[in-house]
Amino acid sequence: MTPTLDTDRLFGTVQYIDGSWRASTSGETRELIDPATGDVIVTVDEASPADATAAVAAARAAFDGGEWPATPMAERTALLARIADLLERDKEELSLIETLDTGKTLPESRIDIDDVVSVFRYYAQLATVSPDRVVDVGNPAVISRVVHEPIGVCVLIAPWNYPLLQMSWKVAPALAAGCTMVLKPSEVTPLSTIAFVRLVEEAGAPAGVVNLVQGSGATLGSALTDTGDVDFISFTGGLATGRIILETAAKHVTKVAVELGGKNPHIVFADAVATAEGMDASVDQVLTGVFLHSGQVCSAGTRLIVEESVADEFVAELVTRAEAIRMGPGLDDASETGPLVSTAQREKIEKYVELGKSEGATLLTGGTRPSDPALADGSFFLPTVFDHCSREMRIVQEETFGPILTVERFTTDDEALRLGNDTEYGLAAGVRTADPARAERMVRGLRHGTVWLNDFGYYTAAAEWGGFKKSGNGRELGPTGLSEYQETKHIWNNTTSPKAGWFGAS
Ligand code: NAD
Repeated sequence: MTPTLDTDRLFGTVQYIDGSWRASTSGETRELIDPATGDVIVTVDEASPADATAAVAAARAAFDGGEWPATPMAERTALLARIADLLERDKEELSLIETLDTGKTLPESRIDIDDVVSVFRYYAQLATVSPDRVVDVGNPAVISRVVHEPIGVCVLIAPWNYPLLQMSWKVAPALAAGCTMVLKPSEVTPLSTIAFVRLVEEAGAPAGVVNLVQGSGATLGSALTDTGDVDFISFTGGLATGRIILETAAKHVTKVAVELGGKNPHIVFADAVATAEGMDASVDQVLTGVFLHSGQVCSAGTRLIVEESVADEFVAELVTRAEAIRMGPGLDDASETGPLVSTAQREKIEKYVELGKSEGATLLTGGTRPSDPALADGSFFLPTVFDHCSREMRIVQEETFGPILTVERFTTDDEALRLGNDTEYGLAAGVRTADPARAERMVRGLRHGTVWLNDFGYYTAAAEWGGFKKSGNGRELGPTGLSEYQETKHIWNNTTSPKAGWFGAS
């Protein structure tokens, strides 16, 4: 039996401004579609730019005149811990929501919610350790301190592939720092964030500290970002949107952190596949790295860069396993991967497949929708592998954000490194080798924010995440993920109150 959601309770009113749930003033609505079936999950209203302005004003009032920024750290971290407890209590419901909205399998959604909990627990702990410090200025009468204060009103904009997880990377440190905020989830997948804000309310966040508006980026985007009332914008999404936000924020000199796309290399040396176990693990990791969540992962290993001497054997085994991936609805226990998030996303992928063929790459498998009639109503697309790709091809350079793997071959270490860095992005990379010296050269030489050695795809709340080059600026998670939400202030306190004595000697 398909589990059901209490949609009236959860999604009856979906804008949360200044501590109350409100209907939008736009009168516009959006149907949210289950990508596995094409069915409407629920219809929600879409905020107007005026709603966005009201949400920013509520956050401003809660910051400037409110008590939250000055709330003792112990109270702030207690709120984070209560939110984590509530997330654990509602894990099954949140996982179901995430699966219905994104299409990912239920086990993947459960992992996402566990990760969200770990982010709140991590910042609840980290925030108790003050980064403030005393500086010795060589004068015992002077107390010189560097203190960290909340940056202010934050606008937090998230994408659709990991809706609540990406939002949690922003909300947890922002709350820990003492900021107030407006959340804007992706209009494609807002449901888990709406349910989450109900938990934030239940946990006792003061009115105005956390506000939520839901609607399209184009409509709400400028109301949230083209304003002098915001102190920090944290954005995760595509490169094109990131550019718009950076340009808009520049007018107001608003600080912005952008986490953008990736075109991530996964480099496999022959020495890594010299044994049967090595071959098995390497094929498995490359397969998972690119086809998990149907490739809709910013750090997906979409570029296989494999040593020429083992390439034919490696790619043949990879194709065999790609063809055995069980695709189906995320709620079906048998499914190993779900559909793409929307039919629009599938159309984009189909265009890239045509592009790959026209560029001369060899399509080895996939490239079409599955033939199973049971999947006909969903936005499914088969795992796709293109061989004999070269760096000039657009399918090698552009983020497709779907289940497309391109294969390039190399013969020397220098060539592998050059190919691995030959992208305008720099989010993540994987290396597989059994040679420790080669491994160290590669992991230090790759210009990417995360490098996995003989593993792929893992992260932890305690370690920074972010991109080199056009994958973005700033970092989320880890101590830096908290400091993004803090201003640094130097306080010079001369306890003897002396004269300066520069002008007019006396
Ligand atoms: P997107 O850029 O289309 O949308 C992201 C968010 O921005 C959405 O909430 C959208 O409504 C909003 N938006 C759109 N136009 C806006 C505007 N003009 N002003 C303000 N907000 C606006 O991205 P997407 O398709 O939702 O997500 C996929 C992208 O996200 C991929 O490129 C992926 O690599 C990236 N991503 C990056 C990371 C990372 O950690 N670097 C993580 C997840 C996803």
